[in-house]
Amino acid sequence: MGAPVAATAALANTRIGRKIAIGVLLFVALVGGMLLTPLIAIPFAVAGEQVTQEVETRAAPVANGEWGYPLAGGYTKGRGFGYNPVIGCSYCSTNHKGYDMAQGCGSTIYAAGPGRVITAGSLSGWGNTVRIDHGGGLVTLYGHMDWGSLRVGVGDDITAGTPIGAEGNTGRSFGCHLHYEVFQHGTSIDPQPFMATLGLPLK
Ligand SMILES: [Zn+2]
Repeated sequence: MGAPVAATAALANTRIGRKIAIGVLLFVALVGGMLLTPLIAIPFAVAGEQVTQEVETRAAPVANGEWGYPLAGGYTKGRGFGYNPVIGCSYCSTNHKGYDMAQGCGSTIYAAGPGRVITAGSLSGWGNTVRIDHGGGLVTLYGHMDWGSLRVGVGDDITAGTPIGAEGNTGRSFGCHLHYEVFQHGTSIDPQPFMATLGLPLK
């Protein structure tokens, strides 16, 4: 394309030359545009397809690429971490080890982080439960899920945002909710500051 550009530059010194130059430039731009359009459009089309696929495999709550919320969208906050007896529930724990959040019975619960499923089934007071080992001594637990709702099994390697089951009222529970618990080296830690450090503040 160097030769036509040089020629038009030389012709541009005359009046007729300028008209020819404009014509040639328009022609070059038109042909160039026709040739370049597919080259530019194809990578965008490919990139768009990849983004779509990622959205389909990863559920909405993933916020920072690695970790996300265990429930998608808005939720009602239940009991936080610590001393928190439930009025009218004698069998509920008083020293609450997790963070309760609710969207309603049957709402989808998602893995908060990537890891391997180490529990998928009934687990003492937590009822129908999934536990995920994230490595480095970090484990998350999702309790009180609906019977028959589990979508993962022990040994599954999953990513954040993988649907694992549905909100239920199994175990020592007082109404449908998700009991979300985080363990560090076997000890329950407060999920609120833990999630906040990941850029995922809870209510
Ligand atoms: Zn709880």
